[in-house]
Amino acid sequence: MNKVKLTELGIKESRDLLNRKEISAEELTNAYIQNIKESSKLNAFIEKTFDKALMQASEADKIIGTDSQKSLCGIPLGIKDLFCCKNVKTQAASNILDSFIPPYESTVTDKLWNEQAVMLGKLNMDEFAMGSSNETSAYGPAINPWRMSNSDEPLTPGGSSGGSSAAVAANLCAGATGTDTGGSIRQPASFTGTVGLKPTYGRCSRWGIIAFASSFDQAGPITKNVTDSAIMLKAMSGFDPKDSTSAKMEVPDYEQHLEKDIRGLRIGLAREYSLKKGNPAAEQKWEQAISLLKNMGAEFVEVSLPHTEFALPTYYVLAPAEASSNLARYDGVRYGRRATLDTNDSILELYEKTRSEGFGIEVKRRILIGTYVLSSGYYDAYYKRAQKVRSLIKNDFDEVFNKVDLILTPTTPTPAFPLGSKGTQDPVEMYMNDIFTVPANLAGLPAISLPVGLDDFELPLGVQLIGNNWQEPLLLNAAFNLENALAFESKPKNWWADG
Ligand code: GLN
Repeated sequence: MNKVKLTELGIKESRDLLNRKEISAEELTNAYIQNIKESSKLNAFIEKTFDKALMQASEADKIIGTDSQKSLCGIPLGIKDLFCCKNVKTQAASNILDSFIPPYESTVTDKLWNEQAVMLGKLNMDEFAMGSSNETSAYGPAINPWRMSNSDEPLTPGGSSGGSSAAVAANLCAGATGTDTGGSIRQPASFTGTVGLKPTYGRCSRWGIIAFASSFDQAGPITKNVTDSAIMLKAMSGFDPKDSTSAKMEVPDYEQHLEKDIRGLRIGLAREYSLKKGNPAAEQKWEQAISLLKNMGAEFVEVSLPHTEFALPTYYVLAPAEASSNLARYDGVRYGRRATLDTNDSILELYEKTRSEGFGIEVKRRILIGTYVLSSGYYDAYYKRAQKVRSLIKNDFDEVFNKVDLILTPTTPTPAFPLGSKGTQDPVEMYMNDIFTVPANLAGLPAISLPVGLDDFELPLGVQLIGNNWQEPLLLNAAFNLENALAFESKPKNWWADG
């Protein structure tokens, strides 16, 4: 099998070939390394760990076929730069963490290496995961491998996990980790024709993941298909005594649940989540997804989540509040970068200069908003109020999940958009991307995005399924059935390979 074909495979398919010894982990890893080397135009990887990858691959080759073999043995993965990896540069794509090398490994990545996965490197993202287009990265944006049929204009791969989605869509890794605070796994997945899963809050440990908004942040996989999502999720999940919000619950074998039929499944269509008119292909794909699910025996129920319109404003009070507190630790003393000081500068000037130089504009905006809504004069008016609305949003979902098993929504209001086209004058324009994804984060619920087809300009479109707490098995089961029925096979045309 040639190199190109190898990297087109997903995790499960690669695992099967490795198990049958038709390929070696080293061969597979080298094929991905080659692709990464030829894809600098996509700016997906911001730190490469090829030596480590080849060492892990050669270890994997010794283990495959023995009793010590684990679930991801020899599978090459990319890791979002938000996950601390021991002795590997980890910057959250921010200048303030310039050259920071953690002396510890995040629990999620530690679990992946324990399952014998291979680490190809760190993936580009929005600075501290704040953004929806990867444009706030200190490294410049990752580029979507997909382009519109009538233009060569570079498009965003989504954000904040834009390096992860671009890398998976362009076959630069078999799967990738992402994190999702308001949509950062699902929106990039939807923009790149990949599958992105945000688990229930508490499913994956947050320990060692650089914190953005701690009551929202969850790690999850971005993969080429639903089966791979199930495989990676299992490896990433589980209780961790080092994260007090991680849940002490068994991790199901998600793969076992995929193939069950979905007859009698009740799926809610929420009135408040309607697609904007004007993209006929998007409407048609949406209708098609519904009718395929109906054909498989699912029942659709119209439901209402009346507080949905407050989700985005609530998120943009609470997430910056938590961010402002989490980011207070970057003071030029303990981590990463320190500004050059004049001889007479005070400690306060050290903080000020380091923080002004180190943080980008969007991160500064969030810190300012967050500090404002937490300040004593405004705490009740904004922060406390937003917490109350958060409860109302959660209650809406609780009500609806008395009537249905899952909720189906579009993942994003639009497909991928050109770089530089949104949010330059008004940040709210960028925030609107998360309108369908943020509610699940406010309520802590699991949700998955999967591709449903292409729009009129041949760009991928995604749909989202939202489940009740801990319903990942059902979510994956329904997504797997829909994926099969849709048979979405389209791939981006390869314009980016050098040489
Ligand atoms: N786009 C959202 C934001 O900018 C969500 C980011 C995320 O999920 N990390 O906050």
